[in-house]
Amino acid sequence: MIPFNMPLIVGNETKYINEALLSKKLSGDGPFTKKCNNWFETNFYTPKALLTTSCTHALEMAAILAGIKEGDEVIMPSYTFVSTANAFVLRGAKVVFIDIRPDTMNIDESLIEDAITSKTKAIVPVHYAGVSCEMDKILSIAKKYNLVVIEDAAQGVMSKYKGKSLGTIGNLGSYSFHETKNYNCGEGGALLINDNQYIERAEIIREKGTNRSRFFRGQVDKYTWIDVGSSYLPSEINAAFLYAQLESADKINTARIMTWNLYYKLLSHLEKEGFLELPVIPLDCEQNAHMFYIKLKNLEIRSQLIEFLKKYDIITSFHYVPLHTSDAGKKFGVFHGEDKYTTAESERLLRLPLYYGLSSEDVEVISDHIVHFFK
Ligand SMILES: *Cc1c(COP(=O)(O)O)cnc(C)c1O
Repeated sequence: MIPFNMPLIVGNETKYINEALLSKKLSGDGPFTKKCNNWFETNFYTPKALLTTSCTHALEMAAILAGIKEGDEVIMPSYTFVSTANAFVLRGAKVVFIDIRPDTMNIDESLIEDAITSKTKAIVPVHYAGVSCEMDKILSIAKKYNLVVIEDAAQGVMSKYKGKSLGTIGNLGSYSFHETKNYNCGEGGALLINDNQYIERAEIIREKGTNRSRFFRGQVDKYTWIDVGSSYLPSEINAAFLYAQLESADKINTARIMTWNLYYKLLSHLEKEGFLELPVIPLDCEQNAHMFYIKLKNLEIRSQLIEFLKKYDIITSFHYVPLHTSDAGKKFGVFHGEDKYTTAESERLLRLPLYYGLSSEDVEVISDHIVHFFK
């Protein structure tokens, strides 16, 4: 059987977890958490990275930091994971969904300005498949209307836009280390704070609303409750696991891109013959091969191909049900403008197996079966 995903285990995870156990420091913000935070700060050039318990929680922190409150509006694509919206709904915001671009499946930057009202507070670009949104345009709109930009870069670790790491371009950015992502620790995430004004408060919110971080640095002599917050820091065991993967990030990234390129090469004649469409990577983007997807003519052909591949024990997957069509999406959000592409494109998209360790032979087998399906 070829599974759809295999959680990455690269080798040094157990060694580092043992080190954490021997150090007798298991709660958050010990040596391994600091190593991970430093790794993002030095490799991705951002003033502050903080490991969190998930990307969902990093987005919740971002919503608090951005000062989102009852009645505010937040603009995002409808084609995304529920956490992108939930983080803001929890603060009482109304979510304003707009359409995606059919080429990258990312928010259509040309539609953002029309959705802005006096209540708009933030824009949340989601870098689908680790391919960047059109960030220059989004940042210039945000500047014009004084909005906060929060990148959902859950899938974008190691990807770049015009040479800048995804997650470090907006005011705030978020990563996921869920087992389905390129680098993982089972469950985990990070908040990237690219705007210095948010750093101190981010540390407080992450530590249950206390000034514990400042206390440990000797900057205050009492540790006390000073703001809202929650428990957003992961244990050292998770950080030790993740650090082993970050140390091998280049090797993992290169291997994933080779797999992606092989799919692209083996399926490109089907695109020329009009059977399917392949992903588009704009020139300004360096992607991380988070996923390889194809787009079929319609939902029916997609369903047939899923069943066909399943007969050969090849597991494929698709997502998302557009949020504006879900029960909660209707309650907490509104779709601004016309749903020209979100629903239609989501029904055509099919994700093929892609994980570190997937062999070239397996990619060839999968591609051959797809060719046979059409011929
Ligand atoms: C995976 C994912 C999340 C959630 O990440 P968790 O770490 O599981 O909370 C959020 N947004 C997007 C786009 C994702 O792909």
